[in-house]
Formats: sequence, structure tokens, C-alpha cells
Amino acid sequence: MIKFGPSGNSDSFYNAGYKHTTESAQFVRDHGLDLFEYSFGRGVRMTDATARDIKNAFDTAGVEISVHAPYFINFANPEEEKAVNSYNYVIQSLDAMVKMGGKRCVIHPATQGKMERRDAVGLMVKRMAHLVEIVEELGYRDIYLCPETMGKIGQIGTVDEILEVCKLSSVYIPTIDFGHLNARTHGGVCTKDDYKREIDKVYNAIGEDRASKIHVHFSKIEYSQGGEVKHLTFEDKIYGPDYEPLMSVFYEYGMSPFIVCESAGTQLEDAMAMKSSYMACLRK
Ligand SMILES: [Zn+2]
Repeated sequence: MIKFGPSGNSDSFYNAGYKHTTESAQFVRDHGLDLFEYSFGRGVRMTDATARDIKNAFDTAGVEISVHAPYFINFANPEEEKAVNSYNYVIQSLDAMVKMGGKRCVIHPATQGKMERRDAVGLMVKRMAHLVEIVEELGYRDIYLCPETMGKIGQIGTVDEILEVCKLSSVYIPTIDFGHLNARTHGGVCTKDDYKREIDKVYNAIGEDRASKIHVHFSKIEYSQGGEVKHLTFEDKIYGPDYEPLMSVFYEYGMSPFIVCESAGTQLEDAMAMKSSYMACLRK
């Protein structure tokens, strides 16, 4: 089933006097949404007791939870010891995620650094193949690793690069961040045809089953020469991209993606706007 929700807590959550992620589940549900993404961006620090409380709250509210692994992962790090850290950040995220009752872990895979692009991508793919072995050895089942398309040109994460990883194993499904794609192409991914072209690549690379349930990040994003500058809100009329044509593609293709809104502060309200746009397609 298609799901919509915010990345982290919106300004409205805090303005309403709430503080804890255990309260986010019902807040999201009360606003007609059914997904919440929890960020371990700055590191995985969560006690088992907190993870259990979060799981109970989300189970009770019937809201799906996904997690975002730390931002400092880099599977193209030329130093082998530092790459080991990247495996550990993913495993720590998975461990906490499972305790929280989640199934999807978003990963920023790598930066190019000083390497040639193809060498950096090759190294990343090799290590993300090894990551699959580690995850299988640890006995994780019924979870997805979701490498993300990235907004800065220096980051590894074009649709093709992410699909190369996803072809390795069915444990991978892509996180397609359409704002990032638009930012790294300086406005090149914003129309219905653009969205179809990118989604068709996913279908061709990994097949209908996984393609139909991709993870999606969406926000309007300011960009410059190097790509992403910062996340905006749906108030933006300059950078885009627009969500309405994307919702109609999801509807036409009969897809069931999980759609996480990453607007700056209004991620709850903007997720609601995307959901109503999608629901309007159903009524046509
Ligand atoms: Zn991300």
C-alpha cells in the first residue's frame, strides 16, 4: 500500500507541545498519514528501552516507521579501515530499526572524493555487495536497504549508480529522492515525462516487484552549480520540483511507494498535500 509521512518531526509537532518520537506516531496518524522516517543522521544512539517504546507507539497507531542511517557513511572511502566504519553504521541502524519495528533503512552510499568517478562507483558497488553478505550472516530477514539518489554532484547517487547497487540483491530497493535528482541536474527532473523516464529506469533495472514499492524522498530543493544547496518548503515557486505530476505517475503506474517528505519544517503539512494530490487522482 502507498504510504505518506514526514521525515522527522515538523515545526507543527513541537508547536503543539510534543517532544518525543513516541508521540509522533499518533500525531502522524491524526493528520491522516501512515509513515514516519526516523533519522540516525548524526549517529545511532538509542537505548533498547526507547526503541521498544517507539515500536509500541507505532504499532498502536498503525504507522509504519523507516530509518535513515548516519550521513557519514562512505562506501567509496579509499581507506579500508574507514570503510569498515560504514558497515558498522549500517548494522547499528538495522539493529535499532528492527527493535523499533521498522523494515526500511535509507543509506547515503558514498562520495566521489578525489577518485575518478568510475573507480569510486566500482569500490562502492564492491563493498555494498559485501554488505549484503554481512547482513545475511547476521540473519536479518524481511528488511530492505534503501540506497538514495543524492543531490550534490560530488556525491555518488545518480539513478544509474543507485540501480547498479540495487541489481546486486533483492535486499536493496532504491530511495529515489526526486528533489535531489532535480537539484543535481539543475532543474532537469520536474515534469511528468521526466518522472516517468526516471521511474522507467528503475522498472527496467530491477523489475516490477521491487520497482513498484520503491522508497521515495521528496522536497523542493534550492540548487546551484554543484547541485543541492538546501531543502525548501512547498511555498517555493522558484526551484521545484512539483509533486502533482509525480503523484499522477504513481497512480498511473499502480505503484505502492513509501513517500517521505523532507520539507524544511513543514514536512508533515507537505506530506499531507502530496497525499491529497494522490487521492485526487483516485477520484478522477
Ligand atoms: Zn537522505
